[in-house]
Amino acid sequence: MRHLLCLFLILGLACNQSAVEKSNDKPSTDAKSDQTVKEKDNMGFNKLTKEEEHIIVNKGTERAFTGEFNNHYAKGLYTCKKCDAVLYRSETKFKSGCGWPSFDDEVSGAVKRVPDADGRRVEIVCNKCDGHLGHVFTGEKFTAKNTRHCVNSLSMSFIPEDKFERAIFASGCFWGTEHHLNKVDGVLAAVSGYIGGTVKNPTYKQICTGTTGHAEAVEVIYDPTKTSFEALAKLYFETHDPTQLNRQGPDIGTQYRSEVFYIGEEQREITLKLIKILKDKGLNVVTKLTEAPQFWDAEGYHQDYYKRKGTLPYCHTYKKKFD
Ligand SMILES: [Zn+2]
Repeated sequence: MRHLLCLFLILGLACNQSAVEKSNDKPSTDAKSDQTVKEKDNMGFNKLTKEEEHIIVNKGTERAFTGEFNNHYAKGLYTCKKCDAVLYRSETKFKSGCGWPSFDDEVSGAVKRVPDADGRRVEIVCNKCDGHLGHVFTGEKFTAKNTRHCVNSLSMSFIPEDKFERAIFASGCFWGTEHHLNKVDGVLAAVSGYIGGTVKNPTYKQICTGTTGHAEAVEVIYDPTKTSFEALAKLYFETHDPTQLNRQGPDIGTQYRSEVFYIGEEQREITLKLIKILKDKGLNVVTKLTEAPQFWDAEGYHQDYYKRKGTLPYCHTYKKKFD
């Protein structure tokens, strides 16, 4: 149970983190929705051109200063050319002058680091499909994060910010919240993280103390032509118990509270409407409704937790609540 894991973490007695992280090596193979209709290969991945195959499959490197995204600073998301996984947010892109797109952080859990065949560098690959992205370097002091993901433009696609929307839901242990929301057709990414508290860049260990004010939550990035905030919010209410105050089942503490962090007035109104429907049915809903402050990604080993474990959530099961 999660609260026991937290207790072990606080006491520093358990949490075999290395074992947990090792299990992150297993790539997910779930096919996801896409912004455009792309031709697929027999593995369900996007068909690649010869040039893309040279980079992504055969671990090639495009010539410096030639890539589509080298000098590209529009707001949006960079996704895997092969499998459409969301890899980087434009907020983490910076000018390094090295000739390839540079990012100082990945979407948590999206990128895997492996030793390069050259014995010196660290190669980065897509965590979902193992497609080659480039290399990661540290200690160069370009940004505060002191990290540079040097990525081939040909390994990525770009989704501009007007082509996707975000929603943030807290419903107890984020492993379970993410599990259900991630399965919705049209969801591009569901990222476990922390929100609503006072600590910047919090760690799981800090969250476990219950004193940060943060809730465990999931940021859902979705294609609004394929799903909607209302559909996601209904699923959110139907996969946890919104009548439990500051807990979900065995997980007790404000970090496990039920809360919708709305982005824009429309999301607020839809959430209020759904809460009213549930209250009219006799449910004493305690879900909080708050305008979303900054969302902080949780550590990589929390992402896709149940998919990697091959198990099912212990306190998030679907129960129909809306007609
Ligand atoms: Zn991929």
